[in-house]
Amino acid sequence: MNASIYTLEITPRLPARIARLDDLANNLYYSWTRSVRHLFSRIDPLCWRDTEDNPRLFLLRVAQEKLDEAAENPVYLADYDDACRHFDEYLARPLPTDLAERLAPNDLVAYFCAEYGFHESLPIYSGGLGILAGDHCKAVSDLGLPFVGVGLMYRQGYFKQEIDAQGNQIATYQDIDFDTLPITKAVDARGGHVSVALNFPGRIVQAQVWQAQIGRARLLLLDTDIEENRDEDRQITYRLYGGDRRTRIEQEIVLGIGGVRALRALGLSPTAWHINEGHAAFQVIERLRELVRQDYPPSVALEMVAAATVFTTHTPVPAGHDVFAEALIHEYFEALLPELNLTEETFLALGRQPHQAGFNMTALALHGSRQHNGVSAIHGRVAAEMVSAFWPEVPAEENPMTHVTNGVHVDTFLAREFSQLFDSLRRDWRLHLRDQSFWSFVDTIPDERFWSVRCALKVDLIRDVCQRLTRQLESDGLSDIRIDRTLRYLKRRESEVLIVGFARRFATYKRANLLFRDRERLARLLADEQRPIVFLFAGKAHPADEPGKALIREIWQIANEPAFHGRILLLEGYDMALARKLVAGCDVWLNIPEYPLEASGTSGQKASMNGALNLSVADGWWGEGYQEQGEVANGWSIKPYNRSFNHEYCDNEEASDLLTLLEGEVKPMFFKRNENGVPVDWVKHAKVAIHTVLPQFNATRMVCDYITRHYLVAARHGDKLTANGGAMAKDLDTFKRKVRELWPGVSGRLINELPHRIHSHEEIHLEVEVNLNGLRPEEVAVECLFGHDHTQDNWLTQQRFSTDSATSAPPTDAAAPPRTQIYRLAIRINLSGLQNFRLRVVPSHPAQLHPYELGLMKWL
Ligand SMILES: *Cc1c(COP(=O)(O)O)cnc(C)c1O
Repeated sequence: MNASIYTLEITPRLPARIARLDDLANNLYYSWTRSVRHLFSRIDPLCWRDTEDNPRLFLLRVAQEKLDEAAENPVYLADYDDACRHFDEYLARPLPTDLAERLAPNDLVAYFCAEYGFHESLPIYSGGLGILAGDHCKAVSDLGLPFVGVGLMYRQGYFKQEIDAQGNQIATYQDIDFDTLPITKAVDARGGHVSVALNFPGRIVQAQVWQAQIGRARLLLLDTDIEENRDEDRQITYRLYGGDRRTRIEQEIVLGIGGVRALRALGLSPTAWHINEGHAAFQVIERLRELVRQDYPPSVALEMVAAATVFTTHTPVPAGHDVFAEALIHEYFEALLPELNLTEETFLALGRQPHQAGFNMTALALHGSRQHNGVSAIHGRVAAEMVSAFWPEVPAEENPMTHVTNGVHVDTFLAREFSQLFDSLRRDWRLHLRDQSFWSFVDTIPDERFWSVRCALKVDLIRDVCQRLTRQLESDGLSDIRIDRTLRYLKRRESEVLIVGFARRFATYKRANLLFRDRERLARLLADEQRPIVFLFAGKAHPADEPGKALIREIWQIANEPAFHGRILLLEGYDMALARKLVAGCDVWLNIPEYPLEASGTSGQKASMNGALNLSVADGWWGEGYQEQGEVANGWSIKPYNRSFNHEYCDNEEASDLLTLLEGEVKPMFFKRNENGVPVDWVKHAKVAIHTVLPQFNATRMVCDYITRHYLVAARHGDKLTANGGAMAKDLDTFKRKVRELWPGVSGRLINELPHRIHSHEEIHLEVEVNLNGLRPEEVAVECLFGHDHTQDNWLTQQRFSTDSATSAPPTDAAAPPRTQIYRLAIRINLSGLQNFRLRVVPSHPAQLHPYELGLMKWL
């Protein structure tokens, strides 16, 4: 007999004594606070495991009697009270005074991003970008910065990954029940649920607004999956990076335009706006529309919007930048043009990348912001080069593209064993995340103690990996004997196997297969039964990325070859839970991208702060992260070969350098032990890794950089341009139009005789006559660059002198500016030897944020 089975969820009632578990389950504070997660897990460890570390789901499923027991257990209650008290203290902690002093009372930062990764229980992230955004919010909350994040609430999130018995990636999507997530519906001042309406071609699309609490930081998430919408429109926010170009533009409209409207519906007026990657750039359009409705001319409105906006670009791979066909833009924005007071042509110009067709979201973000940055020193330079056409006459190294190096949230990624060790040595370590000298205490931890922590982390990793692989291989149909054979090296004593981790998105430029260029040599390295090395691979390929999926198959096949079986292991389902285990437990963290395509990379930072040693190409953050302290380095750095030569050659050479390091340094150092079995040299390097990386590459340092270098600048510059009915913005706009028109006729020449030889520190005088071509004398400045190298690259490191504006007497008749003007520079040079100098004329206006924001300069 086949009886139907009906399901009914019976939710338990929280006893009043532990009622605040509900608050704790609804705040992502739990995602980085183990003591809070432990409050749930210990009530019923099995239920905790079945509910996949999700507190909200746990509270829906746990048995009533377990809750009742906990509410009567004095030990539990003491910990519960402690955790609540810590939570309250955390929420009340003041902003550090150095920042508080500089913030205006109404300052508020709005941060827009397409994905956020806080914890595996809120699966609205795919990888690096999302986790970075999550870490940003967490550090903002730790600091107490007035902040609101904006993103999308995906019904299915990103895919779950399985790898089948042939090494194929299988992507599956599941609907997520929002009742089981730490989110609530956002509520406006009148107590109503917030939703926003968006004009789509021929219809209105509604998006409802959810809210997540990240400690003190608030995150708004838009969702179109509501009854009022047509079926197709309900699906707009189903999948992260899913669908086609149309889905993508619709998602970005919901995020950018809907996001601004959601803020307004909640009565929020941000003073600084952050576009985190081009996906979110449509916020510029909505903010323009708001100002144009207040009767500002569009170009003036754009100055006001851009002044208060910061744009961060995250990829040097051109395919990573969204470009929409103009026809698609026409379809979605035609109806909006009258409200923007723009023609189609001027609208399209906002998204135009010089020499490229289509509407480019990076171009829109650049046009709509005055501060732009990449995410590491190397990436900042590469990005400046990539976007140099936006400032055509300015050398790339002087254009406004700068960098803020990424960092990771320490409490999220530092293993419990280490945070407890730090607690026991320096209780207040969390207040010193920006102070490198403070962290020298790590060097004084006794070697045995340090090594036992490392071994504990490895035990934990090995247990987790064995469980995962057993499950994975069982579902592939492998026998127990075969599975045992696969795990034979991992199951050695943890201190006797060297574990190398490689976990990242499978994209070809990350070169997961670089290790296998010379397989015979690798096989020889791995053949040593006494000193085994195991490589753990994990990562997802975007479902549409065929070469990425082929990489997974390639690794899978290699892992099954006799020479590599058990020594190369490929794990499915990379997510934050697996990432936390891997970065803490691996001995070596491998990163071998093709230079210079890794913008930053952050997993290596997580590994370093847990005492793993990075073995990485000097790209992204590692370009500045690799450091030596005395004789001891914090890892190994592979110098990239010059790619302008021959890619195949470079790959081979870098692959060979990688094996040379593994054979000659990594393996010998790891297996060299003292009489107690401790690898003393290795431990020394591992301590340096923590000491150098933790205080520099953490999210608190990163967010402080954003605040001091960008957010405060944006807020004050926005105020300045908006004050007095936008007087400064209007002035600046007029100036820019005039300069663009007259600049072709501007020229200058040096008119005084210079001595051939002077003494160091002696002053020299330069006189430059500029043909103003109708500009006013104060609208032009003359600059001199001094140095002894004639290559462009080195000019920047040289001394620079400039006139702020006209230096000879201005004309009395203000209506008729002079045809020419003499500019005088007095220069005292503290260099010696043969020097070169170059002179140039640049536009000058006090309301420019960057001296070359017009992209114009004339060299003499
Ligand atoms: C940190 C992290 C990433 C980013 O790592 P990269 O080094 O940038 O590749 C991706 N996915 C997860 C789950 C992470 O935790």
